Amino acid sequence: MEFQPASSFPPLRLLIIGAHPDDCEYHAGGLATYYRQFGHVVKMVSVTNGQAGHHEQPGPRLAARRRQEFAAACAVIGAECEVGTQPDGELLPTLENRLWLIRLIRRFRPDLVLTHRPNDYHPDHRYTSQLVQDAAYLVTVPAIASDVPHLPRDPVICYLPDEFQKPYPFRAEVAIDVGPVVSTILEMLHCHQSQFYEWLPYNTGQLHCVPREDAARRQWLAEQILPRLRRQAERFRDLLIQVYGPQHGARVEYAEVFEPCEYGAPLDEATKERLFGFIWHSARNKVADPSQGTTIAQTFVW
Ligand SMILES: [Zn+2]
Repeated sequence: MEFQPASSFPPLRLLIIGAHPDDCEYHAGGLATYYRQFGHVVKMVSVTNGQAGHHEQPGPRLAARRRQEFAAACAVIGAECEVGTQPDGELLPTLENRLWLIRLIRRFRPDLVLTHRPNDYHPDHRYTSQLVQDAAYLVTVPAIASDVPHLPRDPVICYLPDEFQKPYPFRAEVAIDVGPVVSTILEMLHCHQSQFYEWLPYNTGQLHCVPREDAARRQWLAEQILPRLRRQAERFRDLLIQVYGPQHGARVEYAEVFEPCEYGAPLDEATKERLFGFIWHSARNKVADPSQGTTIAQTFVW
């Protein structure tokens, strides 16, 4: 992977906190890729150990396998990686887990934190969100978990997208075109063999559809993943046009989208520009200068 100098100094720090070892890259792999390409720092966290995500081999061996898969996915873009010890499927928003997360956030010192929304089909997703929300203010309070220095101010916190309608549908305030990095998203997800070619197809009755050969699997994975990114582009087309302009915005095929959490720092226009502007501007510059030659996306090799 080729890197550019950081678009701001010090580099921005993105912390993605998912419940399971594939949640971060599934929902925000494109944003994470852009951050790394532009010289920023990314850490992906799985709060649980993933040990329940298989029909044939649950338990510690699966947890170890998924840890390796997650590490490989993070290595695709050079992101830091951490897996918590909480058993998959059994996460609770306890004080112990809250303090663990407060310390983790403080040590990383993120500019931007991403996590699930608090209403979601999976209890681990819900409680991961609850834990991040519970930690949001307390990371700035010196008396709490005083062995790790508190942060001077809250990071911005945004929710990862979902398609649930209750109590309210996802309200994106940030949208990015991930078309140029979609091959990298798929490369990261391809690392999670136990999930995308075994457990999830089993769980959805599609196990007989999974190809055996690597190239065919990659194609099949793309067919599973891309429609969701396409739906996100269609659903938030107005927002894409707003940030990319009418021409580019209208032809964005794949998008990642994010919704601010009210408990983090405000995501005002200046902050949006600081955290996401380098992605939007790079796309505009490419449109303005078609002689630029090799695009960043083309530097990736599968
Ligand atoms: Zn999950």
